[in-house]
Amino acid sequence: MNSQVNSQVIARQVEPDAAQALIQERGQRAVFCGLTSIIWLHRKIQDAFFLVVGSRTCAHLLQSAGGVMIFSEPRFGTAVLQDRDLAGMADCNAELDRVVAQVLARRPSIRSLFLVGSCPSEVIKLDLDNAAKRLQQVHGGKLRVVAFSGSGIETTFSQGEDACLEQLVAALPESTDDAPSLLIAGTLPDIVEDQFQRLFASIGIERVAFFPGRQSDTLPSVGRNTRVLLAQPYLGSTARALEARGAMIIEAPFPLGIEGSALWFHAASAAFGVSPQAVDGVLAGPIARARRALAPLRDYLSGKRISFLPDSQLELPLARFLSAECGMTPIEVGTPFHDERWLRADMSLLTANGANAETRFVEGQDLEPALARVRADRPDLTVCGLGIANPLEAEGLRTKWSIELLFTPIQGFEQAADLAELFARPLRREGRLEVGSWS
Ligand code: SF4
Repeated sequence: MNSQVNSQVIARQVEPDAAQALIQERGQRAVFCGLTSIIWLHRKIQDAFFLVVGSRTCAHLLQSAGGVMIFSEPRFGTAVLQDRDLAGMADCNAELDRVVAQVLARRPSIRSLFLVGSCPSEVIKLDLDNAAKRLQQVHGGKLRVVAFSGSGIETTFSQGEDACLEQLVAALPESTDDAPSLLIAGTLPDIVEDQFQRLFASIGIERVAFFPGRQSDTLPSVGRNTRVLLAQPYLGSTARALEARGAMIIEAPFPLGIEGSALWFHAASAAFGVSPQAVDGVLAGPIARARRALAPLRDYLSGKRISFLPDSQLELPLARFLSAECGMTPIEVGTPFHDERWLRADMSLLTANGANAETRFVEGQDLEPALARVRADRPDLTVCGLGIANPLEAEGLRTKWSIELLFTPIQGFEQAADLAELFARPLRREGRLEVGSWS
């Protein structure tokens, strides 16, 4: 029975030419910068320190996004550029070396140091790549020093991770054997990583590595025998860097919801020559559990209308999950960047089942027209950035902060119901408020 259910899931993979026309918008954007990704990256790489070279604004952003208490010694911080630095009157490199020495003296267990560029460091053209090379020579042997940009001029908030991993690819050792191995690229919460590792082992794929991993000294090797499965849709530069090292990318929908997760495992398994029937057998239990957990949420969410403003780049796979598995109707699906190659599978599934002829697909952002469409559509729920959510709530529209989706385990079968619950919660809250206002 379960095996039959899984095969039906797989049969829904459709031709790529089912992709829908994209409306492209250019204008004012309202998206957090790439520094935000430090919050989930530092939780994942447990012996890394992220040193932002930026302004007090950058420090405030990190502190509020990270929710850090002053005495908790987080593994990120900001080397604040002062007026003299910005005016070119001080030697920023000497000051940076001093701050790094101070951080390392205080935190000797740090094994990776990330120098993170910001808008101010870019404006004064502070060369952090060279600074990383210099600091590597000084502190090499004890740690790895890598620079990447989290600047709002260059990156949206999830692209910060792409910039970080792209730079880290250069540090991956060369693979020396011919046996194929699987590399899962993209930060996953530890609980999801453990579940995926167990499922791959049961399927018969043993050589699996996760990038980034939990510790800096366990960097996976990469080469022509490496098959890469993306766990996040915003890693285009990282994927291209891995391809340049000889790796082969496996195209698949992203592992959100039951269907996306099943197709993701099937795509990897096909690349390793495992039969679909064997994969179905392993996935039958997790799929059955996920369906039971998801059923009441589907009953609740079914028929509700949803719009996505461009923010996290998770919008398309999320719309696919919420429409096909939860019965929601996507009105508009906006995404900051639509990289056709990585989103093709999700787009095909979404347009084949879930989206309708009226669903708008938008790449980029022009804030005021986008808000005008939300006001005209009045969807039951709008998924958007923090800065837009409060004004929309004040107009009686219910919202979901997209940033929460990056901080929460949402991938895989065991998390499918939790993912749906994230969208049901703001709607239930509204229901409770309405009941309250009558009583
Ligand atoms: S990097 Fe730029 S956008 Fe981000 S907090 Fe700093 S100044 Fe603001």
